[in-house]
Amino acid sequence: MANFSPSFLDEVLSRTDLVEIIARHVELKKSGSNMMGLCPFHNEKSPSFSVSADKQLYYCFGCGKGGGPFQFLIEHDGYSFPEAVEYLAEKVGMEVPQDAQRQTGDEAREKKAYEMLVRASEAMSRALTAPTGSKAAEYLKQRDLPASIIRDYGIGYVPDGYGFMNKVFGSDARTNAQLEAIGLLFKGDHGYGDRFRDRLMFTIRDRRGRVVGFGGRVLGTGEPKYLNSPETNWFHKSDLLYGFSEHRDCIRKSKQLVVVEGYMDVLALATHDLKFGLAPLGTAIGERQIREIFRLCDSPVFSFDGDRAGRQAAWRALERMMPLLKAELTPRFLYLPEGEDPDSLLKTEGGQAFQSRLADESKPVLETWLLGLKNLAGQGADGRARMAKKADAMLATMTDSYLRQAWQQEVEKATGISLQQQRRHVTATPSPAANSEIAELNKIEDRFISGLMQKTERFRHLPDCAKNFFIGNDGVKSLYLRAFSIIADAKDNNTDIARQLTREFPDSQTMISRWVNQATVQDIEYESLLLDMESNDIRWHLKRGPGLSETVRLQKRMSELKSQQRKLTELLNETGA
Ligand SMILES: [Zn+2]
Repeated sequence: MANFSPSFLDEVLSRTDLVEIIARHVELKKSGSNMMGLCPFHNEKSPSFSVSADKQLYYCFGCGKGGGPFQFLIEHDGYSFPEAVEYLAEKVGMEVPQDAQRQTGDEAREKKAYEMLVRASEAMSRALTAPTGSKAAEYLKQRDLPASIIRDYGIGYVPDGYGFMNKVFGSDARTNAQLEAIGLLFKGDHGYGDRFRDRLMFTIRDRRGRVVGFGGRVLGTGEPKYLNSPETNWFHKSDLLYGFSEHRDCIRKSKQLVVVEGYMDVLALATHDLKFGLAPLGTAIGERQIREIFRLCDSPVFSFDGDRAGRQAAWRALERMMPLLKAELTPRFLYLPEGEDPDSLLKTEGGQAFQSRLADESKPVLETWLLGLKNLAGQGADGRARMAKKADAMLATMTDSYLRQAWQQEVEKATGISLQQQRRHVTATPSPAANSEIAELNKIEDRFISGLMQKTERFRHLPDCAKNFFIGNDGVKSLYLRAFSIIADAKDNNTDIARQLTREFPDSQTMISRWVNQATVQDIEYESLLLDMESNDIRWHLKRGPGLSETVRLQKRMSELKSQQRKLTELLNETGA
């Protein structure tokens, strides 16, 4: 990060439009001097995500995320800092200085790997339309996948036999080693071979939309039916969900998400314009994936086959989900009719009917859990005891204590057995918005600083004594003092304190973003805050017992402040503010 000069970063930022970057993911509406929308970092029903176009800073009053353009790309889209800088520089037509380009071997290899994965995906797409790909193309036709889906989701084909990858990339030792590293070749006793042969290929992207691996479906008979890329530095199966980068925005907009079993299910949904399907990559869904799902949507539907295997898979998902459940989340479970999957159902009944199925036939998670417990425990008195015991063990993994109590009562009702109260102590997770630094500021200090950050002009007209105002938090105090020297050094009146401070102190940008995006501190409120700050300061001095003449001076000033404060209050009442 040290490689970019401050002036270069300033230039990139001054040409960048944060609103435009965020508007790609969030619908923003004007609200006062800022823009508001639904936060892309957490689930919410009413907007608490604010963007200041003026200061180029965003802040969410629900989850406490905040920052500027770089931070948004890093936190939302998963960029690294240098990547975010390069991306924005390119976007605004600036050349990244040569010496700042990432030159380390690792980074160059990394970049190369992503490029190769894209090239591989493109080669597979071409092979699908070539004569050798006719079998795969025919299969897709039978499944009713339109050309637009095939193109947008990067579906392709790899021919039978060995040598496809080498034809695309060459076959020198270095290339082979790289192809092995990204999971496209394996090394056997007789040298390198193609991992995927005669398979229909699904391109798998990470949350940033970068190609990281592939899933290959066998055509005709053969084992295994689905073969995925092996774990590589780029491909981590348990972190990925098929359809994530393609559907994220649509899921947020529609507030709908359905978890299905396979690639073809996700694609069949998309074909019917239901672009909110996600699937794990051929394995049971794991905790990290469920977490990601809850971040996107608070009422996802987990769909499973209606057969025994499907019920077992649903139970496993439920067990993994328990620690993550919160009263605010309302996941549902849907069992499909036996022998059907979303793909087959969509084919016979269409998208509309499938939508109704999701709404009408899915069951709340609690109902699914109770039913699963009953089935597991069996009949009779000992069945009820087994059910209570199993439920107790599972309840202990829950972290939301309210939800746990509610569920416990349901089990007690169902079994007539009161559950043990010995719970492990779960510490309540502090709300991220309760940033300790923010909490340490009292209301007056907080609003005062907010008023200053919102209008740099106010800094220029602070009284001399303002430099010594008491500010409870050292970090905030040093930002405050730095602002004075920025103003003093400024050559013209164009310097904006909030923007300048976020550049100089990236670690403080969340705090600054919050001040900027808070309810506007109007002039009258600001005047009143300024008087409060000075009064507090005087009280502090008086307590220290200054000499007689100083005490008299301070007391005189104090009564002046009081009368000014009274006038302001009258004014406030008159204006009804
Ligand atoms: Zn948020």
